Amino acid sequence: MRTYRIASIPGDGIGAEVIASGIKVLKALSEKIADLEFLIDHFNWGGEYFKSQGKMMPLNGLQQIRNHDAILFGSAGHPDIPDHITLWGLRLAICQPFDQYANVRPTRLLPGIKSPLSAGGEKIDWMIVRENSEGEYAGIGGRVHQGQPIEVATDVSMLTRVGVKRIMKFAFSLAQSRPRKLLTVVTKSNAQRHAMVMWDEIATEVSCEFPDVNWDKMLVDAMTTRMVLNPESIDTVVATNLHADILSDLAAALAGSLGVAPTANLNPERKFPSMFEPIHGSAFDIMGKGIANPIGTFWSTVMLLEHLGEKSSAKRLMSAIEKVTADPNLHTPDLGGTAKTIDVTAAVIDVIRGANN
Ligand code: ATP
Repeated sequence: MRTYRIASIPGDGIGAEVIASGIKVLKALSEKIADLEFLIDHFNWGGEYFKSQGKMMPLNGLQQIRNHDAILFGSAGHPDIPDHITLWGLRLAICQPFDQYANVRPTRLLPGIKSPLSAGGEKIDWMIVRENSEGEYAGIGGRVHQGQPIEVATDVSMLTRVGVKRIMKFAFSLAQSRPRKLLTVVTKSNAQRHAMVMWDEIATEVSCEFPDVNWDKMLVDAMTTRMVLNPESIDTVVATNLHADILSDLAAALAGSLGVAPTANLNPERKFPSMFEPIHGSAFDIMGKGIANPIGTFWSTVMLLEHLGEKSSAKRLMSAIEKVTADPNLHTPDLGGTAKTIDVTAAVIDVIRGANN
C-alpha cells in the first residue's frame, strides 16, 4: 500500500469549496486504485481563524505540516482583513520557510474551452516558472512617519546569486524535459539596471550547462504582447516573482478562465513538503453560490500526484478532467455554462470510477 499524508488547507472564500471537491477526487482515486491511500489532515487556517486567534495560522503551524507528503491549499483572503496580512500570514508564511522556490504554472487550452484569442488559443502549451522566494516579494522595505506629509514607504526587490541560479537551473532543466526544449527568460534589465542585469547574466551562465535548450530573452512588457499575438512561439518561461505573477494571470485568462489554472509551489530538493493550489484567489463575489470552478484545483491535484511519483493516477485524473471540460454542459459560469461545482466534481469522479485502466 502506498500511503500519503496530505495537509489540506482550504483557507478562505471559494478556497473551501474547491478544496472540498479536490479531496473528494483524491478519495475517488484511492477507491479506484487498490494500493493507493491518502490520509488527509484538515487545517482550518485563514481569515476566520485570524478573526478568532489574531493570526492566520498557529505559531507551531509549520511544525504541524512539516512531515506531510504534500499540501493542498485553497486561497487566503478575507474581505475584512487587508490582503497583505492574509497573504504574508498564510501562503507566504508557508512558501518561504519551506523554501518552495519554484512556482510552476502550466497553461494549456483544455478540450471544449474557448480562448478569448480569436486565433492561436489552441496553440497555447506553456510552462511558466515563477521565482517564488525573493525578488519583488522578498519582504524588504519599510514605512515611516505614517500618515504624515513626510511619510516614506519602500518595497525593495532583492535577487541573490544563489536564488537566481537555482531557479534558472530549474527552468532550463524543465525546458530540456519538454519536447520543444525552448525557454524564454523574462527580464526588465533595460530599466532595472542592477538585479535584473545579474538575472540576465546568470541566465547566460546557466545556459552553457544546457546546450540543447534553445533560449531567448524578452522584456516583460513585450512578453505580454507576444503571449497574445504569437502564443505558439512560447514554451517554457522563467520570470521573477512579480513578473510571473502577472504573466500567469494573463496566461490563465488566455486559456479560458482563472478557474481552470493550477500551480505548484515546489521545494525541488524535497527537504520540505511542496504545496499545490489553484492560481485563483478567494473570489468572494461567487462564494457560497456553488458555482466555483473546481478544475484549477483538480489540475493542481494532478501536479501533486506527479510530484509524489504517482504518474498513472495523475494521468487518469488529467484525462478525466479533459473528458469533463470537453462537455459544455459541464462548464461553470466562468466558462459560459450553468454547471455547479458539484456537477463538475461528480462528473470527474464518475469518469475516474468508470475508467478501466
Ligand atoms: P484574492 O484577493 O484572494 O486573490 P480575488 O477575488 O481578488 O481573490 P480571484 O479570486 O483570483 O481574485 O479572481 C478574480 C475573479 O475571477 C473572481 O472574482 C471570480 O469572479 C473569478 N474566479 C476566480 N476563480 C474562479 C473559479 N474557480 N471559478 C469561477 N470564477 C472564478
